[in-house]
Amino acid sequence: MGQLGPLATGLTGRAVIVTDTNVAPLYADAAVAALAGAGVAADVIDLPAGEASKCLTVYGEVMDRLLALKPAIDRGCLIVALGGGVVGDLAGFVAATALRGLDFINVPTTLLAAVDSSVGGKTGLDAAAGKNLIGAFHQPRAVLIDAATLGTLPAAELGNGLAECVKHGVIRDASLLDLIESSAAAIESADADVLADLIARNVAIKAAVVAADERESGQRAHLNFGHTIGHAIEAAGGFGGLSHGQAVSLGMVAAFSIAVGRKLVSQSDADRVRGILAALSLPVSFADTPSLPGEARQAGHLQEIMAHDKKARGGVVRFILPTSLGSVDIFDDVTADEVAAAVAALG
Ligand code: ADP
Ligand code: ZN
Repeated sequence: MGQLGPLATGLTGRAVIVTDTNVAPLYADAAVAALAGAGVAADVIDLPAGEASKCLTVYGEVMDRLLALKPAIDRGCLIVALGGGVVGDLAGFVAATALRGLDFINVPTTLLAAVDSSVGGKTGLDAAAGKNLIGAFHQPRAVLIDAATLGTLPAAELGNGLAECVKHGVIRDASLLDLIESSAAAIESADADVLADLIARNVAIKAAVVAADERESGQRAHLNFGHTIGHAIEAAGGFGGLSHGQAVSLGMVAAFSIAVGRKLVSQSDADRVRGILAALSLPVSFADTPSLPGEARQAGHLQEIMAHDKKARGGVVRFILPTSLGSVDIFDDVTADEVAAAVAALG
């Protein structure tokens, strides 16, 4: 956290930390102190923890609190997002839109935000019609990840990030899968050194994919591996359903089963990834998710949701399927029968 100060200098000496009610008592003081050490005075705005805050109402409240600060902020004010993906997305969107755009630094404090949402410049909010439908690309001037903050993260939140780590290994780097496989226990106990290494490897993969394709016209779609069926399961589960990582874990298992059916990968590759997910306490079949409602297990219902996903172009549902461990390809011709078989195979 101490590095936040040096990263924040060169502006007007003013910053506003946007955080949430869980993270504020843990890390806001350290962030304020780090900024003060570099001569940057910081106010703190906290929002209620949880995905429900990623909405226009809370955005409006944060914006009003920001613009009501005395003395009034100007274009040189730095926004610091301190928290998980919810804080990063919302504070990033505030930064993108306040006074037509302020610099921001993202300090992700969840594994999911560290390895996924903090890289790539997407900011935004959920709308009544769906998640992440309001937003802007707004790159942070820096992303500062302090793996020590992950020590206080609830296990379920860690799992959310781990699903994306497995995803990165599958789409780009089989050796990352080796690392996860060999250090699953240390990862689960949030060993800071192991997590720092894991995060660095994952950020490098995500950053390389995003840098090659910032606006998602080509290979950035690879990051959607496991998310086609996964998002549908997550959406169909509703409240009391699955976390993002749990849903993506099932989505990855389903994508592997489609790929095995097409002989793109071997059954043993699919089994290996399934084993890694299970070792990380992520679900690999519906038997692992007893609270998931019945309709979230039905292929027909899931396909309905997939067809309406904003990433479905012209009704064509796009699948990212593994072609080996470490590479994937885009497939626009996956049939309803293949999806039904993959969902059935989840149990
Ligand atoms: P995500 O990063 O998974 O998209 P959130 O921003 O909602 O999602 O963060 C998940 C939850 O974890 C929230 O309740 C948040 O307040 C909490 N949280 C974030 N970082 C930490 C941390 N380092 N220690 C404890 N709880 C945290
Ligand atoms: Zn994801």
